[in-house]
Amino acid sequence: MRVLVIGAGPAGARCAERVAEAGLMVTLCGTEPALPYDRIALGRVLSGEAEVPALISHDIARLRALGIAYRPSTRIATLDAATGHAVTARGDTIDFDRAVFATGSEAVRLPLPGAGLPGVFVYRSMADVIAMRRAVSDGMRVAVIGGGLLGLEAAAALSQRGARVTVVHAVGWPMERQLDPMAGALLARQLGATRRLAFAMPARSEAIEGDTHVRALRLADGARIPCEMVVMAVGVRPAIALARDAGLAVARGIVVDDAMRTSVPGVLAIGECAEHRGVVCGLVAPALAMAETAAATLRGEAAIYAPRADPTALKVSGIDVWSAGEIEPADAEAITLSDAAIGRYRRLWLRGGRLIGAVLYGDTADAPFYLNLMAEGRDVTSMRALLPFGPAFQDAA
Ligand SMILES: Cc1cc2nc3c(=O)[nH]c(=O)nc-3n(C[C@H](O)[C@H](O)[C@H](O)COP(=O)(O)OP(=O)(O)OC[C@H]3O[C@@H](n4cnc5c(N)ncnc54)[C@H](O)[C@@H]3O)c2cc1C
Repeated sequence: MRVLVIGAGPAGARCAERVAEAGLMVTLCGTEPALPYDRIALGRVLSGEAEVPALISHDIARLRALGIAYRPSTRIATLDAATGHAVTARGDTIDFDRAVFATGSEAVRLPLPGAGLPGVFVYRSMADVIAMRRAVSDGMRVAVIGGGLLGLEAAAALSQRGARVTVVHAVGWPMERQLDPMAGALLARQLGATRRLAFAMPARSEAIEGDTHVRALRLADGARIPCEMVVMAVGVRPAIALARDAGLAVARGIVVDDAMRTSVPGVLAIGECAEHRGVVCGLVAPALAMAETAAATLRGEAAIYAPRADPTALKVSGIDVWSAGEIEPADAEAITLSDAAIGRYRRLWLRGGRLIGAVLYGDTADAPFYLNLMAEGRDVTSMRALLPFGPAFQDAA
């Protein structure tokens, strides 16, 4: 059986590997020129802590040993599932018996005036990172639009390269989807003190000023942030155009069932381009879990993808912040432990006696304990008084 995997990001590469291990013939196509790499480690290349080769997850020898036909710089432009033909942007035809969409997401580019100027970047691919590395210089002023996980990571990495970075964020505190306002405020303060990041919050970007290159970012309130570089880190959009054109059912992502099958027989979808039970994932762990499920489906095994509460942690060294589950839900009780003097803060949310969300700041060592409680859905009423102190205190009680 010939399997075509479209997209060589983490999900596509993992699925191709598992399918090839089972002896099926696999062609893996990706638009990017590089060998499959660890996208989540791009910040290390941006900061200069690592070079490109360190991020490669599947080198030539490994792909060869697996028998995977890898085609980099190859965009699949059209696909006909009924006849089993795909055509690349260069016009080559690839025949297949089964196809797996692993086309991931694209970074959103805000349609601001000036967004097309040289010096305006998004943060998604190796090419984006290499271009930013070339453009940044010591003392350069940079505005990062978006104070979510990726925006902060890019800001910290560019600051490590000597840039003077201002983060412009629409909400009053950073990472508002993962952190409550107090943890967000602690984070902004620490990033200011240790990484020299400045914040404009809440603030909306209105235009990028400049003629031949970027000169400033203008905000909706009229304020101007003088800068020579702008990085947009304002979210991603599932890459579903090819799937839609191929006649697959799409909503926000490509609609899949528990076995990663799409609405078209013989075609599967995984990773950030897939929508499972109404949810499009934005993290690598569920993308890889979907890849494993799809590979099992292709091997003819019964497999089911079961989503979990995946935690998020900010990958900026020296800053310990972790969160999982529901953050600040209106219908839950909250327990807070706060010691500003030592920069330690915890907030837990309970509903019906069960832990449903947690934010840990300053000391994240107990994260697995809270994640387990959430995954098990255990009644924590009896341990409530000691709950914010972590497992050591539970054992002592
Ligand atoms: C800088 C950065 C840091 C991150 N950090 C974290 C983190 O700490 N933790 C975490 O869980 N997640 C993190 N993420 C998110 C994580 O990288 C994604 O969840 C993961 O990459 C999703 O994998 P994927 O294979 O579904 O999609 P992608 O990684 O987007 O890969 C899809 C690939 O398909 C290719 N493609 C698209 N269309 C076509 C086509 N028509 N033909 C051929 N190829 C095509 C694309 O070019 C791309 O290479 C981070 C992301 C970025 C950008």
